[in-house]
This record gives sequence, structure tokens and C-alpha cells, in this order.
Amino acid sequence: MNKCEKCGSDEAKVRFTAGEDTSVLCLNCYNEQMAKELEVNVEQLAEAFTLNDFQGISRSFIVERRIDPMGIFMEAKERGTFGYKFAVHGELHCNQHELLNTLIKKAGKGIAKEQVETKFFPNGQAYNIIKNDYFTGLIEYDEDSGNSPLIVIDGRPFTWEEVGKMLTAYEGFQIKIKCYDVTDSD
Ligand SMILES: [Zn+2]
Repeated sequence: MNKCEKCGSDEAKVRFTAGEDTSVLCLNCYNEQMAKELEVNVEQLAEAFTLNDFQGISRSFIVERRIDPMGIFMEAKERGTFGYKFAVHGELHCNQHELLNTLIKKAGKGIAKEQVETKFFPNGQAYNIIKNDYFTGLIEYDEDSGNSPLIVIDGRPFTWEEVGKMLTAYEGFQIKIKCYDVTDSD
């Protein structure tokens, strides 16, 4: 992992270019630099929050903010791999507390509904059904497959094949697939 060239933190993940100089910075140092350049305040915000999902299970999210000439991007990513992820985008000079509240509301709404239900055949074998003929998910990289994606629905990963199996219940129907940025709402 790269070290931040400014503060030495281990998690440098942003490449920052100023003129001909390029440096690798952690998100905090990057935001500080951008805030100075764009004359934006970096408001003190909660860096994590916890919400209950549709089953009453507590889901813990880490908040990341990125200040960009295009505005402020805020993302709530569930701890662990292949969990829920929500994001919002605000104007550069928006109220960052309000933006965080919007993000928390979006997350709350997103985890409140169950989209895929796991049921069991009499022999104990599990199968999944799409509730309400509709789902939204995140397209993630599937390390095991390499050439087909993982789809994260309800904060859990499904292989492309598993999604295909769920769709067999709809033989003869039409399907509509629309891809859109995580900051957009459906
Ligand atoms: Zn740093």
C-alpha cells in the first residue's frame, strides 16, 4: 500500500496533480489541499454511522468524503467486503452536514427493503426469488469468475449465475437493465 506523501499515513489512495507535480495523498490530505484551492471549508462530520436493515440487523457504514472541482462526493460503504454502498453528490459550497444527512437517509431507505428472498425446497436446498419483480444492485468485480460480475443486492453478493437462476422465474417476460452512477437515485 502507498504511504501518503504529506502525513505518512498508510492509506494514500488519491493521486493529486498540481501543475507538473504529482503526489500520492491520503483522502484527508487530499481534501485539505482541494479545500484550500477551491476555498471550501472541510466541515467536521461523523465518519461512521449504523442503521438497522429490513431484518433489524445492524449495518455499520464508513463515510468517505471527497472534495472535487465538480462538487462534494460522499460515500457510505458498509464495513467488510461486498456490502451495501450508497453515495450522494452535492454542490461545492453545499452544507456538508445536510449532505451527510441526505446520504444517511438514502442508506436508510436502501436497506429498509428486502429485494431478494431466500427460500428453501422441502429437501433443504436454498433458492432465491426476486420480490416485487424488481431489484437494484451494485456491479462488483468477481475475482473467482473474472469475466462475469458479482451483483450485490440487499448487501450480499450474488454471482451472475445466481442472478440468472432467479431470472428463470420470469421466462417469457421482458427485462430492462439500466446502469447508473451510485450518486444517482433510481
Ligand atoms: Zn495524508
